[in-house]
Formats: sequence, structure tokens, C-alpha cells
Amino acid sequence: MIKKIAVLTSGGDAPGMNACLRAVIRAGLYNGKDMYVVYDGLRGLVEGQIEQVNKDFTQDIINRGGTIIRSARLPEFKQPEVSERAANILKDFEIDVLVGIGGDGTFRGLNDLAKNGIKVIGIPGTIDNDVGSTEQTIGFSTALNTICECVDKLKDTSGSHQRCSLIEVMGRHCGDLAMYAALAEGAEGVICVEHPLKEEVLFRKLRKMKAQNKSHAIILVSENLLDINELAKKIEKETGFDTRTEVLGRLQRGGSPTAEDRVLAARMGARSISIALDEKVGSRIIGIRAGKIIDLPIEEAVQMEHEHTHGLRDLIDMLQ
Ligand code: ATP
Repeated sequence: MIKKIAVLTSGGDAPGMNACLRAVIRAGLYNGKDMYVVYDGLRGLVEGQIEQVNKDFTQDIINRGGTIIRSARLPEFKQPEVSERAANILKDFEIDVLVGIGGDGTFRGLNDLAKNGIKVIGIPGTIDNDVGSTEQTIGFSTALNTICECVDKLKDTSGSHQRCSLIEVMGRHCGDLAMYAALAEGAEGVICVEHPLKEEVLFRKLRKMKAQNKSHAIILVSENLLDINELAKKIEKETGFDTRTEVLGRLQRGGSPTAEDRVLAARMGARSISIALDEKVGSRIIGIRAGKIIDLPIEEAVQMEHEHTHGLRDLIDMLQ
């Protein structure tokens, strides 16, 4: 019989991780299970940083950004002897199921634990929305809102000075943050893996805007694709638009989670416990599709590529 369930947060932190932690712990306690947390992600697991918690631990955390049990990265987890050591620590603590909240890297780590005989459940918590097995990750909604808040402010000053603003956002492998923000802001341009830079098209558009005396232009750019300062210089030279760059950086990770992220966290957290308690079901990754919470076998989920919202690119092009 399942008695002890542990939970950790891993990879880049995301708003809503605390709300999810709360849901996992409370749903476990509600079902009469002993609940444990692992501090500092997979690194803390290897170090045996495991502690039993009660309901008080989850008081007043639903609206807090970050993760109260902290997160860490441990590249060595890919080494078989390290994941084996982590699995043995869980066995020593007699933990029956481990719930991990994180991104696809975390899920690969969990899969290695599963191969060492541990039942694991992954919940997607990452601002990038780059997890293949789900349409939405916990943290994406909050990060998107944070970007929009920043862009709204930049628009004010961009307009006053008739500038073009290049705004770099997170999401190196997935342009969802850039594309959704571009749609939400009615941006003049977006550059990301799914919508690469076509210099001539962009310059033509900006030249036309300049000629029509349009007050400003906003262009969203995903991180790590190109040097935005170089692009800004090129835009100035080719179009005459005074161009400034802004890197939003880790600001996008912080803040109180949106209601949407909190509700998603609650639904996914509760599902993790129903899977944990079902002894006929093995290791799974949780997701959301067409509004429904789903779960998939972990070995299948880690192979999946993130699918982009159908028609998003066309919509952006049409409305720019
Ligand atoms: P985010 O994308 O939001 O940062 P993530 O979970 O993808 O979240 P990573 O840093 O890629 O973040 O992974 C978190 C941890 O998972 C790593 O520090 C490492 O311990 C483990 N991990 C990552 N990739 C693998 C892998 N291929 N095999 C085993 N463990 C992995």
C-alpha cells in the first residue's frame, strides 16, 4: 500500500510552483498519506534533503512566486550512478512515490529514477511552455502577463519618443512567450524559432511606418536567437527609426501567480495524488489538453515535442 509521497521542484522556478506544492501536499494528506518535501530539487534529493511536512507547511503559499522548497540544477544527474544513488535514498526513506514539478529536463531525470524502480509523477512547471506532453505549463500565464505589463510601460515611453523597441523575452527553444505577447500587445513584429527574422520584410515595414509618421514600433524577440543590439543598429541604419533594446530577463520568472496558473496548479497537483494512489498505474507525466487534465506514461511523454498552437503564426502575420 502507498504510504509515503514526496514532492520536489526542479529546473528554472516558475510562478505557481508553490500553489502546486500546496495542492500535492493537501491532496495527499486528505487521503491519509504521509507527505514529504525534497529541498533544492534533484540536487537536494541526492543529498538526502528530505523532510516530512504537515498542512501548516502549505499555509499562505498559494499566491507566492518562486518555490519555498527551492530549486537547483544538477547536470550530473544524467550520470547513471547519480540517479541510482538518488533512487536508493528514496528507498532508504521508504518513499513510495515521488512527484516532480519542473520542465522537460526534470522529466528526463524523473524517468531515470523510474528506470531505477521508483514510481514518479511529473507536473509541468516552467514559464517557457516548452513541454511536449502538455498544451500549457504552470507559470506560463503569469510570465506572459508580466511581459505584457512591461511592454505596456515601454509602449508609453516608446510612443513619446517615436522609437522602435526590441524586447527580448525568455523561451530559447519555444517562441510561445514571444508569440503570445506579440498577439496580446498588437506588436509590429515577433522573432522566434517558429517565426524567424526576415530582415527585408521587417525593414520594409518599419520604413513604411516611419514614412507614415507612426509613433512607435514594438518587436518581441526570443532569447538566444540573435544579438538584439546588433539588430537595433541595423534597424536604425536601414529605416531611420531610433531603436532601443530591453532584455526582460529573470523578471519574467517572478511575481505572484495569476489565477489561471493557480487553478492549473491545483488541478494538476490533485491529479498527481490520484495517480500516486492507483497501484495499477505506473510513472506518468501530467498535462492539459483541450481543457482536460491528462496523464501519459513517462517514457512516451519525454519523447514528445511541443506542438504550437495551430494558426498562431498566421494570426500574428495577419494582425501585425
Ligand atoms: P526549465 O526548462 O524551466 O529550466 P527544466 O526542468 O527543463 O526546467 P533543466 O535545467 O533542463 O530544467 O533540468 C533540471 C534538472 O533535471 C537538471 O539540473 C538535471 O539535474 C536534470 N536533467 C536535465 N536533463 C536531464 C537528462 N537528459 N537526464 C537526466 N536528468 C536530467
